[in-house]
Amino acid sequence: MRQLMLILLLVVLWAPFAFAGLCKPVNIESRHTREAENLEGESFATAVSSLDGTADYIGSRSYNAHVLACNRKRDTMGKKIEREIGSDHVFAGSLDARLVKGHYNYFGNIITQQKYMYRLERVSGNWIVTIPAEFHFPELKLAKYLDITMPLAQRLGIDTTICATTVKSKGKTTRGLVPKSVSNGIWVFDTCRVDRDETFTVNGQSKDIKDWYMEYWKELIQSHWSRAGFELRFQAVNLGEVDAGDLATYNKEGIVWHVRLNMNANVIPRYKSNPFFLHPIYSGIDPAGVVHEFGHVLGLDDEYPSTECVPLGGADYIMCDAFSLGGDNQKGVYPWIVTRRYMGGKAL
Ligand SMILES: [Zn+2]
Repeated sequence: MRQLMLILLLVVLWAPFAFAGLCKPVNIESRHTREAENLEGESFATAVSSLDGTADYIGSRSYNAHVLACNRKRDTMGKKIEREIGSDHVFAGSLDARLVKGHYNYFGNIITQQKYMYRLERVSGNWIVTIPAEFHFPELKLAKYLDITMPLAQRLGIDTTICATTVKSKGKTTRGLVPKSVSNGIWVFDTCRVDRDETFTVNGQSKDIKDWYMEYWKELIQSHWSRAGFELRFQAVNLGEVDAGDLATYNKEGIVWHVRLNMNANVIPRYKSNPFFLHPIYSGIDPAGVVHEFGHVLGLDDEYPSTECVPLGGADYIMCDAFSLGGDNQKGVYPWIVTRRYMGGKAL
């Protein structure tokens, strides 16, 4: 029933409001083209990916201008940014921490506005973005188990053992392979079901599966979004990584990302809950999906549909193609958007 209602809601919202005139070529002004040119000089754009040595963080200038223009239109802070800083604005090399919060409005209506929130500071020319995250493991369904993506299973050394076959009990999968055929085809990797309280040992280190899970997310997000000039710090509240004093402030200001996981491979991931999906992310989400969804936490909007963004030049952009996970797909235009918002942030 809930899914049916969501479908109805999406149909109602999508049809009249899709893009809602927020993302038309006519919105690309000279300042966006100028900013797209300027961002090419930033170290986060000229950097080399430490993951795979690729170095095309710049991408396409015209596509970057398009992304910038769209984001400013959709960002509740967009007008303020464009009023207060020019396209040639240069930030000081060291800046005190601020909390940046806002919403971006993909459809042009208030109901589907998505919140973004992060801590932003700059030290010796390097931007630092901190995101405190609290994981909520699936409680509604299959609460004794946890589905994990196969690359994580591989890391735990169980991909060819536990995860190679499916164990069923009374028609229900209780352990092992959860083939991607049961999903709607959006997952690249199969997933593997393990016990929620299981302990796994890797290189002599034994840890609870939940800890391995959270550490995997942290590493995925940090390694894909960080590069020279732009450091991403993902701090898991559950792992005790957030200083108690900071946590009180983050909670008060509402900047903790609540990662609410589910056990339904058929649910298309959304980074944040809504009344229809209280737990909107499948725990077995692909690595690329984690990195893409995280882009939304940074206030980056979808550049979908791919039939529109790919021809414009977005093929290697993580917010256009959510399934490509090359080392440099987190293009320089994204840190540019994220850091321009410093002037709208609130002092810590
Ligand atoms: Zn998305």
